[in-house]
Amino acid sequence: MQTPTIADVLEARRHLRPHLGPTPARSFPGLDRAAGTSVLVKHENTNPTSAFKVRGGLNLIGTMPSVERRRGVVGYSTGNHAQSLAYAARTFDVPCTIVMPDNPNPTKAQAVRDLGAELVEAGQTFDDCRSYAESIAQERGMRLVSAANERPIIAGVATLYLELIEDAPDLDAIVVPVGSGSGAAAACLVAESLAPSCRVVAVQSSASPAAYESWRAGEIVEPPNRTRAEGLATGSGFELPQHIFRERLAEFVLVDDDQIRDAQRIMLHEAHTLAEGAGAAALAAVLAYPDSFRDQRVALVCTGANASAAEIGAAVVEPVMASSVHG
Ligand SMILES: *Cc1c(COP(=O)(O)O)cnc(C)c1O
Repeated sequence: MQTPTIADVLEARRHLRPHLGPTPARSFPGLDRAAGTSVLVKHENTNPTSAFKVRGGLNLIGTMPSVERRRGVVGYSTGNHAQSLAYAARTFDVPCTIVMPDNPNPTKAQAVRDLGAELVEAGQTFDDCRSYAESIAQERGMRLVSAANERPIIAGVATLYLELIEDAPDLDAIVVPVGSGSGAAAACLVAESLAPSCRVVAVQSSASPAAYESWRAGEIVEPPNRTRAEGLATGSGFELPQHIFRERLAEFVLVDDDQIRDAQRIMLHEAHTLAEGAGAAALAAVLAYPDSFRDQRVALVCTGANASAAEIGAAVVEPVMASSVHG
């Protein structure tokens, strides 16, 4: 599998321009105070589908040959990859089937249906979904779209880092939540070309550390996958992003799910921004490792906002202990 180049990223920006505007990058005094350093939030939550992944879906489907477009695409996903494909398929009038695990996040499942894609629930695990999606792709001749082992997806996603580095050329660090690793791999590609002194810091949940463990081991490993943050819930490393990480990733850290929920609450209170768990993980990393970020200019990618009602409820309520101590 070939690594995308900066030329692919610039090409992707040209393809995306008619379909997507740039997203804002903003700072908030209260968030700087809470984070103990100067932070800039890249608001990928303001994209259509409320997540960064739509950039990858639009670039992939928008550049597919017309024979493939007629047959359609199939993907498997816990949510935002699904919405990205469904949105892009609707944009380019391409048939789309999405396979999700049984009892998916109802917010994300409904969004996929609203976008006009066919939704199939197939089994308990991600692996069940993958094998079902593979069989549909075979039967119907559809293009099976991986979440991350796809050059056009990584190139499309990378357009967000072009925008970010153009808006803020003096960044010291960009902190990127990781599930499959397409986002952090994209950040590595753009930073290497346009901001070589800016480090990319990847963050994953300690309850689902597949990308982290694969990066450390130098090979694909499959540790347990138990995080509540769906956007970060992967059970296996992905080959293409791991290949890019091995050459170019500066730092990879873990946070736990409670730290992610605390960060979600702080995003709501200090940045008035609804982040799903995955979308708050970058802030969680800065809060968990203050010494790594002190006196720096740090960008946090708020990757998405598709929280379920239960998740929003949990994020709004102050935890009893923390609030009584700090009152
Ligand atoms: C998919 C997703 C991530 C993780 O991105 P990868 O490219 O899979 O590493 C983070 N946040 C949100 C909201 C996501 O949907």
